[in-house]
Amino acid sequence: MAATAAARPHHEGDLEFGIARNYWGGRWVVPDGCALLDVVNPATARRIAQVVLSDRAEVQRAVGAAEAAFPQWRRTPPIERARYLFKLKEVMEREFESLARLITQDHGKTLDDARGEVRRAIENVETAAGIPTLMMGYGLEDGAARGIDEYMIRVPLGVFAAVCPFNFPLMVPFWFWPYAVACGNTFVVKPSEQVPLAMTRVFELLEEVGFPPGVMNLVHGARETVDALLDDARIQGISFVGSTPVARYIYQRAAARGKRVQAQGGAKNALVVMPDAVPVLESLVSNILSSSFGAAGQRCLAGSVLLTVGEAHREAVECVVEGARKIKVGYGLEPGVELGPVISAAARDRITGAIGEGEQSGARLLLDGRGVRVEGFEDGYFVGPTVFDQVTPEMRLAQEELFGPVLSVSNVASLQEAIERINASPFGNAASIYTQSGKAAREFRYHIVAGNIGINVGIAAPMAYFPFAGMKASFFGTLHGQGRDAVEFFTDKRVVIERWL
Ligand code: NAD
Repeated sequence: MAATAAARPHHEGDLEFGIARNYWGGRWVVPDGCALLDVVNPATARRIAQVVLSDRAEVQRAVGAAEAAFPQWRRTPPIERARYLFKLKEVMEREFESLARLITQDHGKTLDDARGEVRRAIENVETAAGIPTLMMGYGLEDGAARGIDEYMIRVPLGVFAAVCPFNFPLMVPFWFWPYAVACGNTFVVKPSEQVPLAMTRVFELLEEVGFPPGVMNLVHGARETVDALLDDARIQGISFVGSTPVARYIYQRAAARGKRVQAQGGAKNALVVMPDAVPVLESLVSNILSSSFGAAGQRCLAGSVLLTVGEAHREAVECVVEGARKIKVGYGLEPGVELGPVISAAARDRITGAIGEGEQSGARLLLDGRGVRVEGFEDGYFVGPTVFDQVTPEMRLAQEELFGPVLSVSNVASLQEAIERINASPFGNAASIYTQSGKAAREFRYHIVAGNIGINVGIAAPMAYFPFAGMKASFFGTLHGQGRDAVEFFTDKRVVIERWL
């Protein structure tokens, strides 16, 4: 499967990328009897591929391959395991542009956004390649008593699996698998059935790198596929990223079967603008716009609520609306486009429905993204930047994750009120403050109950060597993805007390 160049005219039934197949035990598989689902380019509304919907038996075969590969892989020294990652980094750098183009065609985000995603994925490979150091334990001579030493070593557990969302088809699996595999586990990835192409391409690259068969396995599918992973007793742990209801379900069902679970959920993130930020607003506004409208608002870190404090309101709203009005909507592969389509017709209808409801509920619609028309891509699932003012806390606009380019503005009297509003949300993924006051920033950072905090930064996305945090209904579990947390999640600790007579 090769990524092709730019937008070319498609024809009904065109399967530019063929069938996104499973890969397990070192083989590509289209399982007998499993249904196929159409994969659609959201900018053109054309079918570009099909994806396998794996049933329980197919999942069991893939897990079997992962289980069989574990003993040998575990015995492979960490430095040798790391070498596969060094090689993968080189191959991914070579394929950087083709991976980004593939993401844009499958998901719809702009090419620049897609490039950012590929970079983030590679950074996780780079970080996990430090495994000989990251995985080290510690010890203490005479730690237990005179002549009795004590030390801790980290050991892999076996097979792990990741269930991934549509909004970062490439990056999210890389929050987990490079660490799991570097630690000596074997792995099964289940991408979102809406965007299966990037990870399928990655598995071609893993094959080129020469990972031993069964170390990395790919099963495509949807709900039935996920349930089979959750129920398989051979799987030691599940990493999940997606919406909160599914995160909660995964956490409960997998934990009930004795698995380790880390389940990242949805979000409703606020951006706070303090009055002292107004003099520098011009230099901040692109940061706010990119948080709210980048990737068409389909980021778990998107700032979808703007809380203006006191007299910051008028200028902040003016700046944001003026900037949002200029955002160029279109097909992400075309130059200059800043906002691509949302993932599906269903998502578009859900978002435009929420805009209609917002209007009816009494919020003031300052910019309406419904009915946006993109020349040459009239069938695409586009929603333009949308801004509401006078949004009150009980409105759906203030509470629900809309996962579209919709910004809901409210004016609050004080920083204290902003903090209370944010902390009243069931979500706790991210929050940002724009201010020139260190005191206000500290107050915010100290009191906000959210995992990822931005200070004059609208998308507080942790780098690979920090945990991708999240609290409350945005995260179920203890250890997060990425960096040292991932190493802890994918290993157990063995403590040895040693005496020689
Ligand atoms: P989703 O919950 O619909 O799907 C996620 C995955 O779960 C997919 O692989 C899907 O096949 C599977 N799935 C869906 N319904 C299921 C069910 N009933 N039973 C078992 N499996 C099921 O999420 P999505 O729409 O793909 O992704 C968007 C969501 O992900 C947003 O809520 C966003 O905030 C969240 N997200 C969170 C983070 C984070 O770090 N907290 C990061 C990215 C995305």
